[in-house]
Amino acid sequence: MKFSDNNSDNNIDIQLEISQLTDTLNRYNHSYYVLNDPLISDVDFDAILVKLQKLEDKYPIFKSPHSPTQRVGSDINTEFIQRSHRFQMYSLSNTYSAEELVDFDVRIKKDIVDKIEYVCELKFDGTAISLTYEKGVLVQALTRGDGTTGDDVTANVMTIKSIPLILHGDNIPDLIEVRGEIFMPHSSFKRINLEKEDIGETPFANPRNAASGTLKSQQSSVVAHRGLDCFIYTLATDSSIFSSHYEALKLLSDWGFKVSDSSKKFSSISGVLEFIEKWDSERKKLPYDTDGVVIKVNLVSQQNVLGYTAKAPRWAVAFKFKAERALAELLSVDYQVGRTGAITPVANLSPVKLAGTTVKRASLHNSEQIALLDLHLGDYVYVEKGGEIIPKIVGVELKSRDLFAQPIDFIKKCPACATPLEKIEGEAKHYCTNHLHCPVQIVGRIIHFISRKALNIDGLGDETVELLYRSSLIRSYADLYTLDASQLIPLERMGEKSVENIMDSIEKSKNIPFARVLFGLGIRFVGETTAKKIASALKNIDAVMSATEEELLSIDEVGDKIAESIKNFFSQEENIENINRLKSYGLSFEQVDKEKVSNILEGKSLVITGKFSQYSRDALKEMIELHGGKNLSAVSSNCDYLLAGDSVGPAKLAKAEKLGVEIISEDYFLDMIK
Ligand code: NAD
Repeated sequence: MKFSDNNSDNNIDIQLEISQLTDTLNRYNHSYYVLNDPLISDVDFDAILVKLQKLEDKYPIFKSPHSPTQRVGSDINTEFIQRSHRFQMYSLSNTYSAEELVDFDVRIKKDIVDKIEYVCELKFDGTAISLTYEKGVLVQALTRGDGTTGDDVTANVMTIKSIPLILHGDNIPDLIEVRGEIFMPHSSFKRINLEKEDIGETPFANPRNAASGTLKSQQSSVVAHRGLDCFIYTLATDSSIFSSHYEALKLLSDWGFKVSDSSKKFSSISGVLEFIEKWDSERKKLPYDTDGVVIKVNLVSQQNVLGYTAKAPRWAVAFKFKAERALAELLSVDYQVGRTGAITPVANLSPVKLAGTTVKRASLHNSEQIALLDLHLGDYVYVEKGGEIIPKIVGVELKSRDLFAQPIDFIKKCPACATPLEKIEGEAKHYCTNHLHCPVQIVGRIIHFISRKALNIDGLGDETVELLYRSSLIRSYADLYTLDASQLIPLERMGEKSVENIMDSIEKSKNIPFARVLFGLGIRFVGETTAKKIASALKNIDAVMSATEEELLSIDEVGDKIAESIKNFFSQEENIENINRLKSYGLSFEQVDKEKVSNILEGKSLVITGKFSQYSRDALKEMIELHGGKNLSAVSSNCDYLLAGDSVGPAKLAKAEKLGVEIISEDYFLDMIK
């Protein structure tokens, strides 16, 4: 009797533990796949998943068919239309060591007696996509979703330049589905995060989240601006036009898909291990993130014998690279104040070598992150490079914690002006709300105003702005226009020449177009592109200032958050006063639509590619429009000319030739519009 009581207690405990682990994993999955905001590191997530898997294996009676161990993590989002996949989309089983890979090889050989070949590919760290082509034309793009249905993101995918809208080549079946990975290259990731920080938005945690978040954007123009890329690695079709995965990759490449040239075929697992070793170091030089290698059985006939589990193919496996980590001591935490008042904690660490550089500081993002890590002063912390770019703290070595270590207490007051900080509901950051008088925010706003993409006052730099502020010569960006050379000359490190430069560039900024002045005002969430859209829709500052919420919302790229921020900005007297002053100094507050110069290119569409010696690409694009032509982003049969500079890839030229698109040089183009 006693025995059976204990047993049922034990069962209840196990059932409870399984249910708690399931709930926890479901919550993490939702944050990761739907919100693109991971709550824990992948390693910690995988450890919980393994724990659940082990419990389910031991007590299968408590295993739910809906367990996260049995299903792919779903990215389905109700803002999109869901459609069924013709062929199910799977995840991959993971391995982390050579031994596990050898086990995989042994398992395969139990079912396949013939010779086996493996294809090794890089595991691109982005988000999976399935593309359908009918008669060679892209008709649908679906995310992986829950594996059987995905979100329809066709309009967004069409803006990704490396995804062909029309295929070329022979023997293309009438209906094909291809699968690949949409990812964000490091260069785009850096640019987008700088832009996000600049307008007071939370930056993306890593390129993977940036790619999946962007793909789920409600505006295709945002997707186009973000610079996503895509590698294709699977061909799915009912026609039997290939007998191996390697042949399929070759077909995909011939038809115009971007296929990585790193893929290799091996006849033994030792070759596979060498490939992994090579790429574990080589990948650091790639301009995008990879988190492992995917190993696939090459022959389709053998893949069919091996089949699938509910979650992954049995004929493929991922080998995950270990993220490079270092252990450092947390010495102190600094708090930076942004121009919008957002407070960002930054950890000061004992210097440590990580992925070829010495790391001394790591971003902590916000108070929630500090609480999640339960950081204490003097802790030994693990540092990783997020997307190989910004180091971040991913965990604490608890056994090294001093008994009397003090938890990090997030500051209550602004470090620059001592105003009590506020936390706005729904936002992760704390804010200093003393926008008018907090010195760091004022200086930050002026630095934004003079930046290259805004008023481009290049004679001034961040340090000079700080100096001018400290010397009480400026208190707002409008004050720049009342500066006098005689006030600057006595300042430290100011020569006559530099003063002349400053005065010159301030004067020149009066010719900067309205859209850039609007961007320079520093309205929260109004980035460069949004400012351009608002300027062309409303034409002048008075119309922007008096626009109703509905009018603002009708502008492309303006949503609730931006509209509210604009209304809030113009409700502040100080901002109106500054704008009136700037108007009186002669800055442009009116959109001047450039008049067409000629109709020479009327009805003609051009694509610009490569590097040019005489004009920038943007200048050439503007010339095309001023002469009545249209700019296209990719070569297609609708294109009349490919304006090609230096270093153009041979594939692009070949595509243009094939479609009968005339290829012209910069000189030829300038001659055309002369
Ligand atoms: P996965 O990313 O481990 O592997 C499957 C995916 O790999 C495919 O769907 C495909 O998109 C991609 N892939 C890239 N290159 C490929 C190639 N050459 N061939 C085939 N596929 C390729 O699996 P997943 O199910 O997308 O995600 C699981 C991972 O996500 C786990 O490692 C887990 O740590 C992580 N995760 C983390 C959290 C978190 O909170 N941190 C939450 C959920 C999942």
